[in-house]
Amino acid sequence: MTRATRAEIHWANLRHNYQLARQRSTGKALAVVKADGYGHGLENCARALGDADGFAVACVDEAIRLREAGIKRSILVLQGAYNVEEWQLAEQLGLQLVIHHTQQLDDAAAAQLGSTVSVWLKINTGMNRVGVFPQQANDCVARIQAHPQLQLTHVMTHFANADTAVIDDVAAPMERLQQVSQQLPGVAVSACNSAGLLADNGIEDDISRPGIMLYGSSPLLAQTASELGLRPVMSLMSEIISIHAVAKGDAVGYGSSWVAERDTTLAVVAIGYGDGYPRHAPSGTPVVVAGVECPLAGRVSMDMITVDITDHPQCAELRIGSEVQLWGDQLDVDRVASAAGTIAYELFCRLTPRVKRIAAD
Ligand SMILES: *Cc1c(COP(=O)(O)O)cnc(C)c1O
Repeated sequence: MTRATRAEIHWANLRHNYQLARQRSTGKALAVVKADGYGHGLENCARALGDADGFAVACVDEAIRLREAGIKRSILVLQGAYNVEEWQLAEQLGLQLVIHHTQQLDDAAAAQLGSTVSVWLKINTGMNRVGVFPQQANDCVARIQAHPQLQLTHVMTHFANADTAVIDDVAAPMERLQQVSQQLPGVAVSACNSAGLLADNGIEDDISRPGIMLYGSSPLLAQTASELGLRPVMSLMSEIISIHAVAKGDAVGYGSSWVAERDTTLAVVAIGYGDGYPRHAPSGTPVVVAGVECPLAGRVSMDMITVDITDHPQCAELRIGSEVQLWGDQLDVDRVASAAGTIAYELFCRLTPRVKRIAAD
């Protein structure tokens, strides 16, 4: 493969960000590597974070990939088992499972487990997505304790609004979680995602679950990644494949949505929505061409974008092959995400397999 479009992955920065998460945690920190390590590569993320307190993935299929890659650390499956067979797989692979619904207890009973499986009971404290209601918790705990092979090690919750950094948004859910955990001596508590960890909200738990911050994006609405001390892990790179001039009044790209307001020099860059670059990025979205930010001009195509390089200080020296960065160490991914009306989580996750992931260090 020789196409220049690639995601350079800075593993040292992933480790730096994990250390920051660990320092901000009041206890341990599970590295969340679901969705292919937020697009960075599941197995490689786990290898790079070999000394993490453990890993969290969304589903058993992801956990199987980690075990097949030789990862021996603890793995928590955030959605737990989807069926009886997954309980048996979890037992064989030594996975920890979240229980968020009583159906999962029925499945556990049917699974005829021969050895212990550690489980985390997820409490719905206000997000109203998954989790048992606090008033169901006692019944669930009793059923877990009655099962000879289930061991309740943690109670957990997930915040709906930790990113606002408003203390009340997390204090009330935390209180609901604590009301459950107070009756369960010896059972650890897990609450914080990245935003919960970084928001200075006074929340204390025994083990946090940072995800997005590990990859160098800010989880908070009011603070940038660099203000938080986070370092970008992915640099999405490409290069110029054509340069040409268009006259004032000429339209560019599908739908002719962008019309040159002056004589313009355009660079065509080899990246598009077929690579996962967001199609909804509007004209004006920043793109770094040979170290200088230039505005996107016209619609994003499947395989290319057009960039207005007229004001680039080295415009005349730019060539086919000149380097372009879409986000990364020269351009905060969160700026691109907000220009495109989305979040860095989605930009990372929807990078397609056409983009080679390359270790930068
Ligand atoms: C994805 C996820 C996390 C990590 O969230 P970030 O916002 O990426 O830090 C933590 N806990 C649960 C339950 C999750 O699903």
